Amino acid sequence: MYSWQNKQWQHIMQQGAQSPNSKLPHALLLRGRAGIGKQDFALDVAKAILCQQSSEQQPACNSCPSCSWFAEGTHPDFMLIGAEDSDDAEEVVKKKTTKKSQISVAKIRQLIDYLTLSSHQVNGYRVIIISPADMLNGASANALLKMLEEPPAKTLFLLVTSQPQRLLATITSRCQAIDMPLPSRAEALAWLTSQQVTQAETALDLAGGAPLLALQMAEEGEVGTSLLKNLALGAKLDPFTCAPLFLGLGMERAIETLQKWLFDMQAYKLAQVLRYHAQQANALQALAKSVNLPLLLRFQDTLLEAKKTANHPLSNEAQLENILLQYTKIFKVN
Ligand SMILES: [Zn+2]
Repeated sequence: MYSWQNKQWQHIMQQGAQSPNSKLPHALLLRGRAGIGKQDFALDVAKAILCQQSSEQQPACNSCPSCSWFAEGTHPDFMLIGAEDSDDAEEVVKKKTTKKSQISVAKIRQLIDYLTLSSHQVNGYRVIIISPADMLNGASANALLKMLEEPPAKTLFLLVTSQPQRLLATITSRCQAIDMPLPSRAEALAWLTSQQVTQAETALDLAGGAPLLALQMAEEGEVGTSLLKNLALGAKLDPFTCAPLFLGLGMERAIETLQKWLFDMQAYKLAQVLRYHAQQANALQALAKSVNLPLLLRFQDTLLEAKKTANHPLSNEAQLENILLQYTKIFKVN
C-alpha cells in the first residue's frame, strides 16, 4: 500500500474482513487514474485479508503460512485474473483494432469452477482480483455478472480499472466503488526520489502526476538511452542481446525508435542535419559514413511494413531479432 492510499485502506479494513460478522461487500471496484498503484493496493488488500494474523490495525504479518504462500504466488485461496493476448489473431486483424488484450470467457469459466470448491483455509476468505477489469469482453463480463449476482460466501472480488466507463453498468452496480486518489505533488516526488528516479519532476510532469507511470517512463527513458548505445554499434550490434531490450518498449515503439534513428542517419548523410538525436551526433556521423544508402532506404520500407503488423499477436522476439539483423547489414563492411 502506498502512503497516499491510507484512507482507502482504512475504509476497507474497518469493514472487518477478519471478524465473523464482517460487513465487507462481495465486490469492490477500485477505480482511478492509470499509474497510481491501484493493482498494488488490491494485492495488499488481498494479502491482508488472507493473512492468518492480520487485524484491522495490523496489515499482513508477512510471516504466517498464508503470507508466504501469497508471496510465492501459490496461495490456494487467491486468484489474479489479468488480460491475456488474444489467441484469435484473425479476429484482431479483422477488427483492425490495436488492442489485443482481453480477459476471455474461458478464464471466467475457470474461475467459476474454482469457486465451486471450498476454500483452503477453514472459514477463510477467498480473494479474486480482476485487473484491468475493463479488459473483460462481452461474454466474460456477462459470465462474471452472473457470479456477482449470486456471489459465493466469503469471497471478495476486487475489480481494478482506470477506465470504469467501459464496464457494464450492471457490473458496476454490484460493486462498492472506491475512488483511488492521485497523491499530492510533494508526496509523489518524495516517492519517486525514494525509487532513485533522478529527474523526478520531469517524469512526474510527463506522467500527469501519476507516480507509478512516472517511474515507468523514467525507466523506459533509461532503456531508450541504452538502446541508442546499441544502435550506435552499427554493423557490430548483436541482434540477440539487443532484441529483448527493444521488446521491453513494445513492438510499436521499438520500430518507431529504429525509424527515428534511421531518419537521422539518412538526414545526416544527405544534408548533415539531425532532427531527433542531437546528443548522438558523433555516432550518427560515423554511421552515416559507412551506411549504404540504397540498403538504408530498403530497410526503412521493411520497417514500415513491420509497423503495420506491430500489434499483431504474432509479433515476437524472433521477428525483432530479424529486423535488427537486417539493420546490421545496411553498413558497408570494410
Ligand atoms: Zn500473515
